[in-house]
Amino acid sequence: MEKTLSIIKPDGVGRGLIGEVIKRLENSDMKIIAMKMLKMSRKQAQGFYAVHKERPFFDSLTDFMSSGTVVVMVLEGENVISRYRDLMGATNYKEAEEGTIRRDFATDIERNVVHGSDSQKSASFEIGYFFNSFEIINR
Ligand code: GDP
Repeated sequence: MEKTLSIIKPDGVGRGLIGEVIKRLENSDMKIIAMKMLKMSRKQAQGFYAVHKERPFFDSLTDFMSSGTVVVMVLEGENVISRYRDLMGATNYKEAEEGTIRRDFATDIERNVVHGSDSQKSASFEIGYFFNSFEIINR
């Protein structure tokens, strides 16, 4: 069993897409084993996206991610890291497959509704960024 971090980004929460995203992942046999709502400070968003700090979109991305409420979840399932990435679709919604969350709902390469860890290493960093061990259900 693998774990991944999912975030419903400020655009997704603001547009009322929490239920839609959760419905899709539950229908895909991914279990939510931790969940909270929060609003990141700019510093917290910068820490979360530290791997991107040299990228030209870093300031814009971290401003966006700290602009409103997000829902952060830990998902568990077999191969859940790659299966959740498939459910999200490509970073650029214009390149995302039909039926993916980003293809259906993203409005911009940055405002793409959801985040999902891209490897076991980043999942472990990202889960630990938001949750302590008492907040994650041990099934
Ligand atoms: P992800 O793993 O699919 O989320 O993609 P990345 O790790 O490459 O990028 C992180 C996030 O940065 C993306 O989800 C987008 O919100 C944003 N992003 C990626 N590429 C660009 C870009 O070219 N321009 C802008 N403004 N934002 C971007």
